[in-house]
Amino acid sequence: MSNSIQEIKKEVEGFVVSSETELETFRMRFISRKSVIGELFGNMKSVPAEERKAYGQDVNALKDLAEARFQFHIDNLKSGSKKVENHADLTLPPIEDHFGSIHPLTATRQRFIEIFERIGFNVSSGPEIEGDWYNFTALNFPENHPAREMQDTFFIEKNPDIALRTHTSSVQIRVMENEKPPIRTLSPGRVFRNEAISARAHCVFHQMEGLYIDKGVSFADLKQTLYHFAKEMYTKDTQVRFRPSYFPFTEPSAEIDISCQICHGEGCNICKYSGWVEIGGAGMVDPNVLENCGIDSTIYSGFAFGMGIERITMLRYGIKDLRLFTENDIRFLKQFSSL
Ligand SMILES: [Zn+2]
Repeated sequence: MSNSIQEIKKEVEGFVVSSETELETFRMRFISRKSVIGELFGNMKSVPAEERKAYGQDVNALKDLAEARFQFHIDNLKSGSKKVENHADLTLPPIEDHFGSIHPLTATRQRFIEIFERIGFNVSSGPEIEGDWYNFTALNFPENHPAREMQDTFFIEKNPDIALRTHTSSVQIRVMENEKPPIRTLSPGRVFRNEAISARAHCVFHQMEGLYIDKGVSFADLKQTLYHFAKEMYTKDTQVRFRPSYFPFTEPSAEIDISCQICHGEGCNICKYSGWVEIGGAGMVDPNVLENCGIDSTIYSGFAFGMGIERITMLRYGIKDLRLFTENDIRFLKQFSSL
């Protein structure tokens, strides 16, 4: 038996097959027509006549061996995969799933929209970078109003002023400029103010503003709409109160308080032991604002309100620190995985 037949025999015997790929490698090397064994058959002619018979027998024996090993590996692979199936350990803990869930701020925004869609409001949006007209002037902000100052507003350019919007009231101006009353619209979105980050304030937060313009809209409509909102967002027994206030774009204006959802009037540190928590501001749209947008203020009137989605969410779920919303702490977010 020649050396190379001996070597190939050893190789066939020692070849380890533990996968389909290795099985194919085995087939290519020892079984196929172009395999090393096929080559040995091809060499037959060059073997001296007197040795040819013995050579032929050896090569045939090697071929039988390779085919037997090949079949063995096929059977082995099949039973191996069965073995794995049959021996799956059902007592092992399941592989943890990492499906995400809706962020609590998104859930509140969606609930907000649901409540107002049922009473005829649509949803509008606008740019986060605004010019002076949409963010301030059209909204009746006086030239020297502190909100225009550098310490409150993130300006991108001065003269002409371009800023990150400080509220979504800018969207309401765009809607009033482009649509005829009746207008019933919600403007949710991200807003920016130069404030120190704390448990109660952030320089980036989310607002939900509402606007209703039609003939004969009164403060009674505003109150009734916000009563409806508070009872739908929180509980049926939620109380609402209005405190007189001032905003450039509404007259008269009010701050909106609801009964504390944490202590239900008993007094706690969230409501500063008053039983009431502020959720936003509201008022009748100032006639100047209507006129700025080409709406005749002698025919039409309307109300507007604005609330922080963070604040509404904190009261909804009893969250005490606003920073949790943006810290991406899985331990916090996981608590809302059922939303
Ligand atoms: Zn309280």
